Amino acid sequence: MDIVCLDLEGVLVPEIWINVADRLGIAALRATTRDIPDYDVLMRQRLQLLQQHGLGLPDIQRVIADMGPLPGAREFLDWVREHYQLIILSDTFYEFAHPLMRQLGWPTLFCHRLEMDAEGRIINYHLRQKDQKTEAVRRFHQLNFRVVAAGDSYNDTGMLAEADKGILFDAPAKVIAEFPHFAVTTNYEQLKQEILSAFH
Ligand SMILES: [Mg+2]
Repeated sequence: MDIVCLDLEGVLVPEIWINVADRLGIAALRATTRDIPDYDVLMRQRLQLLQQHGLGLPDIQRVIADMGPLPGAREFLDWVREHYQLIILSDTFYEFAHPLMRQLGWPTLFCHRLEMDAEGRIINYHLRQKDQKTEAVRRFHQLNFRVVAAGDSYNDTGMLAEADKGILFDAPAKVIAEFPHFAVTTNYEQLKQEILSAFH
């Protein structure tokens, strides 16, 4: 049996924090791990900014629901699920992904979770485990699955290397140059062809 593991942001949906920042007009929320390499420091800053602007989870979820998936993502996922087992491996949070998962037909998603207080304010976050994407692919191998993985950025390269075949999707030139052994795709049709040839 074969599993397709897909990254979420940048592959099936837009970058969540960047879009939330733009739609809410909070420029400081646009910061990523490229600006603040320590993920915990970055997340604390994000949660603090949400507090300062009086934004709770329902406000963020409304913004995320309006973003919608990338054009063609739903059809592509339906194709994958007809032929293979699909697991989405993401570093986002269930509470953020929820409105988008509805629009994608509720595929299986492994990601992290947020902690809210009684008023819906986000007060903390909990990572499933360190480098869960790579660890998940390793576990699927132990269960005798063949795995093809696709993602668009640095946080995917571990799972791409661990998979039987790793595919970059719409990745920045820098990532493509640094990881020349991964297949390169820029649209769903190309991704489909790479998946088909991997499991042939
Ligand atoms: Mg991504």
